[in-house]
Amino acid sequence: MDKYIMSFDAGTTSERAIIFNKNSEIVSVAQKEISQIYPNPGWVEHSPMEIWSAQIGVAVEAMAKAGITADEIEAIGITNQRETTIVWDRNTGLPIYNAIVWQCRRTTEFCDKLEQMKPVIEDDSDLYESKDGTQTMSQWIKRKTGLIIDPYFSATKLKWILDNVECAREKAEKGELLFGTVETWLIWKLTKGKKHVTDYSNASRTMLFNINTLSWDEDICKLFDIPMCMLPTPVSNSEIYGESSPEYLGGSIKICGAAGDQQAALFGQKCFHKGDMKNTYGTGCFLLMNTGDKPTFSKNGLVTTVGWGREGKLTYALEGSVFMGGAIIQWLRDELHMINNAVETEEIAKKVNDTNGCYIVPAFTGLGAPYWKPEAKGIICGLTRGVSRDHIVRAALDAIVYQVNDIVTAMEQDAGCKVSNLKVDGGASNNNYLCRTQADISDTVVIRPSCVETTALGAAYLAGLAVGFWKDEEEIESTSKGFTEFKPSMEQDIRHSRIEGWKKAVDML
Ligand code: ADP
Repeated sequence: MDKYIMSFDAGTTSERAIIFNKNSEIVSVAQKEISQIYPNPGWVEHSPMEIWSAQIGVAVEAMAKAGITADEIEAIGITNQRETTIVWDRNTGLPIYNAIVWQCRRTTEFCDKLEQMKPVIEDDSDLYESKDGTQTMSQWIKRKTGLIIDPYFSATKLKWILDNVECAREKAEKGELLFGTVETWLIWKLTKGKKHVTDYSNASRTMLFNINTLSWDEDICKLFDIPMCMLPTPVSNSEIYGESSPEYLGGSIKICGAAGDQQAALFGQKCFHKGDMKNTYGTGCFLLMNTGDKPTFSKNGLVTTVGWGREGKLTYALEGSVFMGGAIIQWLRDELHMINNAVETEEIAKKVNDTNGCYIVPAFTGLGAPYWKPEAKGIICGLTRGVSRDHIVRAALDAIVYQVNDIVTAMEQDAGCKVSNLKVDGGASNNNYLCRTQADISDTVVIRPSCVETTALGAAYLAGLAVGFWKDEEEIESTSKGFTEFKPSMEQDIRHSRIEGWKKAVDML
């Protein structure tokens, strides 16, 4: 009997289930969009119950489509939107509030205050520069968690729920509430409450997890007044966590791997070696570089994160994030009604030779690395009567490219070398105009694998390795299929002047 691995890809816009065979080929896919809830300007929420029911629904659908039963699935791997924060009652299994999504900026004010505070407890780790007892809160948090203070990460979202939902902190202190990011929630639901775990990569995005010791940081939990009993147990990215309860998928299946979507994509892109780099063009954009078995701390506004832990070995990564990636295309479609679908943006952008001087800086939810301007709002500039819809659509795609390029440049500075190539994936990487422009503006070869579902593939690899479905990373590398290469061809002076124009636009924020 042929065996398969099933990935759950719990993304920001949809839940997906993808079944892979041993050759890393997709056998079946099912997908369902989830509701985006915007209760206030800058606030973004999801329904945790919708996430769960949509995820199980697509899993059943993917299995049915391919005629695959539970006993043919060797393992489930989970990958998910990271940082998104869920708190639920361990007895009823019901969330006490909607999931606060990574994009949500409701804790901006608190983060600003936090930055002005001084850490009460100093430590003398020599991992970070400041050792003279005068470190700022940002440095203190960064050396422990690898992250910068920003509403994006889970800690302040969790604190917000505990501060704002009636009796929440009291219940949490009594051990009645559990916290989890989306993978934790799904594993808890799948195992019917038997397993409350988080993998290292997801844990490292909470701003509560010490990436040097691989444990929850007591000092930081105290700072945020978060009862540690509500936190899940941190586990590696590739091991048997538990089994799905048999009623959901027509039999129990081992759950053996989990990773945050970007780390999963880094693994799925086979960036197994130090210096390997990838960018995912999804709702947001995420550039990650494998930095080997020690954390590297950035001088250019990038964050340090756990890539994965497997067989007792850790791989760290440097990461830069763009909040509005493909989401700007959704905005053109849903709010401006300028396009009918995302795919047609490629043809529209190609109808014109440039943007006619128009730039869009899509700081809708603040601007991420390397600027970190949480309060910035988006702008469209350079408008003249000659700017048409086609120019604006092209400027929207270019905005994605420029933001990614800013991060490539920051990584080059941190790594002290020029990037030789950039592996790409995610929904918007299907856009050839986007990939070609990225190659031009970043002056590097852009490589797009034929299977752009690398996030799901990474989760499948992590789960498959845990049960011996694939022996090791070498065997995975040998399953590599085709890819498309985009080589840079733009003249340097045009490239420089376009980047210059972008920088001027960012300065207007
Ligand atoms: P996520 O995992 O964050 O939900 P996906 O990887 O599914 O995101 O990518 C979806 C995003 O990519 C959407 O924001 C969509 O607007 C954009 N997108 C999808 N296809 C294209 C395309 N051909 N050109 C440009 N943008 C696209």
